[in-house]
Amino acid sequence: MFDIQEIRSQFTILNREVNGKPLVYLDNAATSQKPDSVLKVWNDYYTELNANVHRGIHTLSQLATEEMELSRRKIQKFINAKHDFEVIFTKGTTEGLNLISYILTQKLKKDDEIIISYLEHHSNIVPWQLLCERTGAKLRVIPIDENGILQLNYLDEFLSEKTKVVSVNQVSNALGIVNPIEEIIAKTRKNSDAYIVIDGAQSAPHFEIDVQKMDCDFFVFSGHKMYAPMGTGILYGKQEILEELPPFHGGGEMIATCSFDGTTYAGLPFKYEAGTPNVGGNIALGAAVDFIEKTGRQNIQNHENALLEYAQRKLLELENIKIYGEKAKRTGVVSFNLEGVGISSDVGMILDKMGIAVRTGHHCTQPIMSFFNIAGTVRASFAVYNTFEEIDKLIEGVKKAQKMLS
Ligand SMILES: *Cc1c(COP(=O)(O)O)cnc(C)c1O
Repeated sequence: MFDIQEIRSQFTILNREVNGKPLVYLDNAATSQKPDSVLKVWNDYYTELNANVHRGIHTLSQLATEEMELSRRKIQKFINAKHDFEVIFTKGTTEGLNLISYILTQKLKKDDEIIISYLEHHSNIVPWQLLCERTGAKLRVIPIDENGILQLNYLDEFLSEKTKVVSVNQVSNALGIVNPIEEIIAKTRKNSDAYIVIDGAQSAPHFEIDVQKMDCDFFVFSGHKMYAPMGTGILYGKQEILEELPPFHGGGEMIATCSFDGTTYAGLPFKYEAGTPNVGGNIALGAAVDFIEKTGRQNIQNHENALLEYAQRKLLELENIKIYGEKAKRTGVVSFNLEGVGISSDVGMILDKMGIAVRTGHHCTQPIMSFFNIAGTVRASFAVYNTFEEIDKLIEGVKKAQKMLS
């Protein structure tokens, strides 16, 4: 049974008021709220267990290590990785993408090509631009149509033996569009031997993820967008690839032996986890996975899809609303503007006065905004604890903004 009030009761923050009104939190694509169970695990770690991992033989160090490794195995199951050592703790999607683009440096040479798409977050654009600067490789960008849908005939055209990397998101953070990654991966495998990187920042909170079935080489996501603390994230990489590629950061934990004559590296996953990790956060990420599984991924998805459909229908009943990606398959996000009325941040400020938190602006996706020739959008994004009443409040707020700004 899916009981929304029971779910909401697990999130203390949802009881607070903002500007004298009950909080309506619709900025989940930026970061989700954290259930009390996750916060308790995080707090328990610091009150009962705090010690550095892997280093000590003392009891607390061993217990902390066990908890973190247990969390790694929960995440392995969550994404169906073949081995737990293919799951690398990072501080988020941004770090994961930078790590991958860095360790691939030696694999690229002048005039090789990297394919991304128009729908990418800046963190899946800039690291590749930096890689291009280091190697002389070129970036090719799959365009979108007026509905925000990727034009895959361009992928066919771009793919060749020069293609060394294809990196796309599974779900766009700005528009919520679900990209056909199965098709993208199949085409890429058929027509090149490129490394395939999937940015799962917006899909991991919503979808069943199966990296083996997907057959990507890398999959990255952030913990804080899926009910876990900030400063947590995951990089999944295939064993043989992670074993072959060089380390990213050098330091403690990632060595097997270290001398001034040279250093040998630790095995996976430690080779890619230099320095003291975010132990409490990483353990709490395991608790967030427990929360998602207890709630049921299908339940979460059904509820969020119903919210999206309702929000879109209600918005379209109003006049002069433009929804970006309206006709595309989407999840979790409705991104819109009030046509002819003000700028998105004005709408955001009016909503905030009513206790409604939405994101406004370019959402770290300036190329998408340039494509639509706009400065930004109003983005409402949903999580499992949002309600239909909250969407009614959003609609009231949008009506009010239309009146005030026209
Ligand atoms: C949020 C987001 C990122 C960046 O994640 P961080 O947690 O800020 O590192 C990258 N890609 C997408 C699609 C995102 O939504």
